[in-house]
Amino acid sequence: MLITFDHQWAQWTATTRTWNQFLHERCAHGELDWIRIIQQEPAYTRDHIPRLVKNALRTIQTRRCIWCHAPLPLNDTTLEHVIPLASPVWDTMFSLERLLSLRLAHTTCNLAYAQWRREYPHRAKRSDTARLRRIRHVLRTDEDQIAWRAWLTTRYPETLMHPSL
Ligand SMILES: [Zn+2]
Repeated sequence: MLITFDHQWAQWTATTRTWNQFLHERCAHGELDWIRIIQQEPAYTRDHIPRLVKNALRTIQTRRCIWCHAPLPLNDTTLEHVIPLASPVWDTMFSLERLLSLRLAHTTCNLAYAQWRREYPHRAKRSDTARLRRIRHVLRTDEDQIAWRAWLTTRYPETLMHPSL
């Protein structure tokens, strides 16, 4: 299937807000497993994705691939680093932002996205920056953002206080 990744924004943007609300609700309810994930940041490698995170993303994505939107079978679900670990943008993100950038995709769609990034590195870099800006916008404008500060405490990023990014 041919996917033009330049135009894959609507689904990711919509789920960023849903994902943020989901995470905030879990922390607000005092769910320790989630608080730990938010505060300690697991590795999020291809081989290591906490089951909680994977299951939550499946629900948030209504069991559909973030790229092609077709149903996502359990035996063909990969963690998609929409902003990859290797991107310089990843290094500028704090743990909650990283978590908010992750999605699930089919193996073939995951590989196709990586291929697109290799073919169009400048577009990929622009995309990463724009997505981080979008995540920060969601965090800033979410009505629960004030409450996030309680969970993140000292790790609450300056970027949320200064909208210039
Ligand atoms: Zn797919």
